[in-house]
Amino acid sequence: MRIAVVGSINMDVMASVDQLPSPGETVVARGVQYSPGGKGANQAVAAARSGADVWMIGATGRDPFAQAARDSLASAGVHIGYVADKPGATGMALIEVGADGENHIVLAAGANGLLEPADVARADSILTSCDMLLLQNEVPWAANQEALRIAKAAGARVLYNPAPMRNLTGEALRGVDVLVMNETEAAALIGTVPQGLDGDWSVLDSLAGIGIAIVVVTLGAQGLVCWQRGGLIRLPAFPVRAIDTTAAGDTFIGAFAAAFDERNLVRALRFGAAAAALAVTRPGAQAAVPMYSEIERMLE
Ligand code: ATP
Repeated sequence: MRIAVVGSINMDVMASVDQLPSPGETVVARGVQYSPGGKGANQAVAAARSGADVWMIGATGRDPFAQAARDSLASAGVHIGYVADKPGATGMALIEVGADGENHIVLAAGANGLLEPADVARADSILTSCDMLLLQNEVPWAANQEALRIAKAAGARVLYNPAPMRNLTGEALRGVDVLVMNETEAAALIGTVPQGLDGDWSVLDSLAGIGIAIVVVTLGAQGLVCWQRGGLIRLPAFPVRAIDTTAAGDTFIGAFAAAFDERNLVRALRFGAAAAALAVTRPGAQAAVPMYSEIERMLE
């Protein structure tokens, strides 16, 4: 699989605290960790570790985090020649985690917010030759649209992960072949969603009207449902002891895309779910993404 990812590249800065601060309060952290993240970059790393040939199209800033974020992508085997260099800060997620696991997250778009259609168009040769394009909502919509336009005209499949959720019109979904979202995003898009794996998911039929061929709704530790014209696949999660669910969704998406085969969707879904289950047993975002051999072992 040749995969192009247009999306965010962040540094996650995580401080563990005993209790989250109230407005105006200062608390002392027990420790701080830096971990390369960003939905686009996480999905790119997951696809590359799953065996795909992956190009990242995005942007970093001119601060010390830029190099670390690029190194993390490159060391996973992701091609970074189309990662633009922008003035100012690299995208950053400032995360506070309390002892009870509750968190506060502040997301600063930084360079991600400066990604322009022209930066995307520079990767024309990749977008016109890839099998699949992955998009999310952490870069300006104009950049996503430019990628979708170029890739679609050349016959690539487009997978869109509408996260973080923002108001979506049917127009925004035009050209999307595969939609992957979690329960919160699904509720925002289609209204009330059924409870759990065994619910009545016929509500997903409404998305067929706008040309989407495959819809996956991930349900955390419960697993996922996948709607394809003519049927629904319900896949329970692999049983593991989860310690950090950061980037579970991104790991699923990258691995699922790497294994994507419309005629054998169950295999691709199981591959993605196994990768995500392994990721939740480890701390961090990109650091937690498993290798192809580990995923295959889990599937044996
Ligand atoms: P995040 O925002 O943390 O990246 P998400 O909300 O986008 O995650 P989830 O629905 O939480 O995505 O998880 C995606 C997939 O990861 C699930 O469909 C499931 O296959 C797997 N997964 C998540 N949590 C667990 C868990 N506790 N045990 C096993 N698998 C899990």
